[in-house]
Amino acid sequence: SSKPKPWVIGNWKMNPETPMAQQQLTQQLIDQIIHDPASDMGATTLNLAVAPTFLHLLMVQQQLQQAKSPVQVVAQDVSRFAGTGAYTGDVSAQLLASAGITITLIGHSERRSLYAEGAVVLREKLQAAVKAGLDIVFCIGETLSEREAGQAEQVVLQQIAEVFDSVSLQDWQQHLIIAYEPVWAIGTGKTASPDDAESMHAAIRTGLKKYHPSLVDVPILYGGSVKPDNAASLAACANINGALVGGASLDAGSFIKIAQAF
Ligand code: PEP
Repeated sequence: SSKPKPWVIGNWKMNPETPMAQQQLTQQLIDQIIHDPASDMGATTLNLAVAPTFLHLLMVQQQLQQAKSPVQVVAQDVSRFAGTGAYTGDVSAQLLASAGITITLIGHSERRSLYAEGAVVLREKLQAAVKAGLDIVFCIGETLSEREAGQAEQVVLQQIAEVFDSVSLQDWQQHLIIAYEPVWAIGTGKTASPDDAESMHAAIRTGLKKYHPSLVDVPILYGGSVKPDNAASLAACANINGALVGGASLDAGSFIKIAQAF
């Protein structure tokens, strides 16, 4: 099986601070990609995307579309409730889909730790997202204490196991992307070594293949302090199919350099 088309996704989290700063960052991405004719980013060789806040999602999407940019937009999260209705504060997968947003993160470590999202909620979010036809970047990863206790692989495989049957095999084949993000590497400046990352990615791929051989092609992205100077060594790993980038995605030049490594 061939290596799946890589994804490089910038997770802007609750940044930057103003609509103007959101537009400036978007414009910088547009300009830098257009001014790099050597690359074909987003068109055939790479899926390139950014995840702004819900407040700015459509504004950024429109700006990218008007510039005919290959950069896509991703939602950072999605409601566990489907459709429309009395769910104050939430944004459903169907609302996203109806606005042309085709992909969402689910289970980011900040959602798991700061909002106590566990298997029950994440299963509902996965179900809501596939019901609306969204693609999903499902985030998993162990804490430092779990790694130090030698349980990293077990924890990560369990995070897949506890949601696996919430959606169909066909949904896994067609709509799921995994992002392996060791919690101790997110926003800390500590990156997993390429060897450690690759060995976890290989374990995840083996785990997926045990559910069904066709899941060999599920893209597995790495996240956790990816920077321009470590992206190439991560991209070179056989089982790393892209990156989920937090801090470095807030600088357009850094984000583009990371994208170019994949
Ligand atoms: C993330 O939160 O998805 C992430 C990878 O953040 P950072 O790159 O800042 O570690």
